[in-house]
Amino acid sequence: MFKLVLLGPPGAGKGTQADVLGSKYGIPHISTGNIFRDHITRQTDLGKQVQHLLSRGDLVPDDVTNELVRDRLARNDCAAGFILDGYPRTTDQAKFLKRLARITAVVEIAVPEETVVKRLSSRWMCACGRAYGLVSDTPRKRGQCDSCDAQLFQRNDDKPEVIRHRFQVYRESTQPLVEFYKGENRYLRVDGAGSIQDVTKRISDALVRHVAHVVG
Ligand code: ADP
Ligand code: ZN
Repeated sequence: MFKLVLLGPPGAGKGTQADVLGSKYGIPHISTGNIFRDHITRQTDLGKQVQHLLSRGDLVPDDVTNELVRDRLARNDCAAGFILDGYPRTTDQAKFLKRLARITAVVEIAVPEETVVKRLSSRWMCACGRAYGLVSDTPRKRGQCDSCDAQLFQRNDDKPEVIRHRFQVYRESTQPLVEFYKGENRYLRVDGAGSIQDVTKRISDALVRHVAHVVG
């Protein structure tokens, strides 16, 4: 089964696509951002330790993040495959992951910065991880999640100044990963523009071609 990594700037649609693809392939969607946010909500020791980092848009230290992912990937539901969203985010994390699992494909969702800044500033989230927009992908009932009826909220790192900082962190720490993976033939780049369904189709098509190529 697929062991996937989704790469791309904040707001590229990694979380949305990971959700859709996870259901489609029956594998868990693992978002380090969602895991950290859940710890913050529950005010666990880890949550208290990382909350100021998330609210500023800074990265959680590699050793903390790596350990968390190692524990998560060791769980039974990951045996058949998984989709990583938001990890790895640094070259150090990518090296760590290399020792943990044999990744089928690394998919970069490519979107221009102007587009994602607009998307993020109008993004509304549900605690279940689903994201909605103000213009497209709006919820059926205003302010309420289609999947679980919970009330939607804006992420506190989706403020303009924090968004800018997250981009800076992305360019400095995560962009070099593209170089790290580019040399490998499992690196797939898809255009992240258009509707959710368009992008899902591009990713699945790229994966099917990739797997056929590797097997054939
Ligand atoms: P984004 O929309 O920016 O992709 P995420 O939900 O993936 O947001 O991550 C939110 C925040 O959680 C990051 O800004 C960072 O503080 C922390 N975080 C998530 N994944 C990692 C990681 N792999 N390494 C370090 N910090 C992380
Ligand atoms: Zn929900």
